[in-house]
Amino acid sequence: MRGLMQQQNLLISNLIQFAEKNHGDTEIVSRRVEGDIHVTHWAEVSKRSKQVACALDAMYIPTGSRVATLAWNGYRHLELYFGVSGSERVLHTINPRLLPDQIAWIVNHAEDQVLCFDMTFLPIVQKIKSLCPGVKAWIALAAEPQVQDLEGVADVLSYEAWLASQVQKANGYEWPVFDENTASSLCYTSGTTGHPKGALYSHRSTLLHCFSLALPDVFSMSALDSVLPVVPMFHVNAWGIPYSAAMVGAKLVFPGPALDGKSVYELIESQNVTFAAGVPTVWQMLLGHMKPNQLHFSSLKRTVIGGAACPESMIHAFQEDYGVQVLHAWGMTEMSPLGTVGNLKIKHLNLSKESQLKLRAKQGRVIYGVDMKIVGDSGASQPHDGKAFGDLHVRGPWVIEHYFKEESSALIEGWFPTGDVATIDEDGFMQITDRSKDVIKSGGEWISSIDIENIAVSHPSVSMAACVGMPHHKWDERPLLVVVLKAEQTASKEDILKIYEGRAAKWQIPDDVVFLDSIPLGATGKMLKTRLREILCDYKWPN
Ligand code: AMP
Repeated sequence: MRGLMQQQNLLISNLIQFAEKNHGDTEIVSRRVEGDIHVTHWAEVSKRSKQVACALDAMYIPTGSRVATLAWNGYRHLELYFGVSGSERVLHTINPRLLPDQIAWIVNHAEDQVLCFDMTFLPIVQKIKSLCPGVKAWIALAAEPQVQDLEGVADVLSYEAWLASQVQKANGYEWPVFDENTASSLCYTSGTTGHPKGALYSHRSTLLHCFSLALPDVFSMSALDSVLPVVPMFHVNAWGIPYSAAMVGAKLVFPGPALDGKSVYELIESQNVTFAAGVPTVWQMLLGHMKPNQLHFSSLKRTVIGGAACPESMIHAFQEDYGVQVLHAWGMTEMSPLGTVGNLKIKHLNLSKESQLKLRAKQGRVIYGVDMKIVGDSGASQPHDGKAFGDLHVRGPWVIEHYFKEESSALIEGWFPTGDVATIDEDGFMQITDRSKDVIKSGGEWISSIDIENIAVSHPSVSMAACVGMPHHKWDERPLLVVVLKAEQTASKEDILKIYEGRAAKWQIPDDVVFLDSIPLGATGKMLKTRLREILCDYKWPN
């Protein structure tokens, strides 16, 4: 027997309609590429999203076509989020930190028909325009006068002029209604080998992820929040935060290109930000600015940190020094991206502060909608006892099934293998010990490079640390620690290794320390261990 409730498709346009109707005057604040602070609100974002939809119609861009962005976090990017997907086209957010050749490859693979870019990325456009003949329109996210006579590129339209031509038409525009399984946005993964692969999200997967994200045990977003997504809108839809903000009517604050500690701090304070989201590197810059200047937060209550392992020392600093709760989260492009968040349960409230910190430092508890398991070499499921580890497999309505344009399924018996190696405890807390290709196996025993790195960065002189397994005549592999020191700090190998005493088993302690000026990072800020191994190819163990 079928239920007798209304059948309504879950569409991204529902979100902006809701925000306009119920939270129309809630502010959307952006630090712009132009340098100033721009203020708009949900009603205006809705109006201009419709202008985007009409402008695409006027260009005869068919439904299903990909419309790409090379843009920072800002209100114009937000308008494209709703205008492109809401009008049944696919928003393709491109990571501008990739090399121009890689970007051109992605644009051609996605068959982008329109490409909208912030003026900061004009040099990229100058390099790729001739390599991407399929793009019919190049649109600079700027006002008309800025776009006239651009050096080195012809036929670039001004976004503001593009929208202005549609004001009248947009007044009578109704969002189209279509199947909720229709593709809504496309994001390529930052694979370290081979070509990037596209994760193609649907309206349904985005909406379900969006509901889950706002839950109290996830990001707990509400109309009382002023939300700062430092995580880029070009990286897995800023973890879905723009959509959930529309769903709950939160205020959004966008940092634009200014991600340094001072700029982010000023934005948090001036916009009464209550909730922020970003990768550990960004928060390290923020704390690095606040400490020497003896600054404090007056509004920030919680921050979600993910995308890479958040060191215990960072969680401790946020909580104890600044009174900000850290939610350590894990996910990936193929998962829209959220899988786990480190919120405690009632029974954990009686634990000591140290034990709570240990729990919070894990990658978190699985959220409703995602199912996970860990499997051993034979493919058998491992127990959830917090000790056994294995390859982490996931499934759920916002987890990938196929990569874009790939014939074969990405799944193994219905589960997506994440490439991460993890433990899961009795309470569902998952802890990543490594990427499967980064695990260190010494004398048959596994060593977690993440654990070793976390301990290293708690040393007061260490800015960044990477641990890699290097070939060893006796133990097959031994851990080598690569360290970048903070500016004007000195430390010897012995100083650094001393910090492991009592915190790691003897055999887990790195055998040597190499000091470098920097550690190579990929386009999403993750350490590129493949590149690091190339740099270390001539390394020899002492004696
Ligand atoms: P991406 O698809 O670029 O977002 O990368 C996803 C990968 O980043 C995951 O498979 C993990 O290896 C890593 N990652 C994401 N969040 C965390 C975290 N909290 N701790 C450790 N690794 C993480």
